[in-house]
Amino acid sequence: MTCPESGEGTLKEGILNIQAQVRGEQVPIQFPGAECPMCGFQEIDSAQMAAYGLATADAYRAKHGLLTSDELRSRRRRLGMSQVEFANHTKASLPSIKRWELGAIQDEAMDELIRLKTDAETARKNLEKVARLLEQPSPVEV
Ligand SMILES: [Zn+2]
Repeated sequence: MTCPESGEGTLKEGILNIQAQVRGEQVPIQFPGAECPMCGFQEIDSAQMAAYGLATADAYRAKHGLLTSDELRSRRRRLGMSQVEFANHTKASLPSIKRWELGAIQDEAMDELIRLKTDAETARKNLEKVARLLEQPSPVEV
C-alpha cells in the first residue's frame, strides 16, 4: 500500500516503535502495524484499536508503577473473586473494576488500595507502619 502521507513510500508491516500519547505524556510502546520507510508515517489496523489502547495504558501504568490490567485481573482471580465480589471487597465501583481491567488507568490512591486489599505483604507492611506511628509517645498536633 502506498503511503497516504508522502504518496511515495510503500507501507511495510511489522512491529512499530511508537511514541504514544497518554495523559499528555509520551509513552514508548511496540505494537504491530505498518510504517512508511520514507517519511515514518505509521498506521495501525482499525480492528486493533482496542488492543492498542490497552497496550498504551499498560505502558503508562508500568512507567508510573501502577498495576496493569493483567495484574489487576490476576490479583482478583487469585483471591477467587468475581468482579462483583472484588467491588465489594475494595469498595471501588463495579464499573470502575471493569474499566480498569479493560485498560482505563486507575489513579494512584485506588492502586494503593487494591495493593492493600490483594497482597498480604503490602498489607503487613502497612500494618507495621501504622502500629509504629501509633506507638509514638507524644503525637504531634497537626
Ligand atoms: Zn510516507
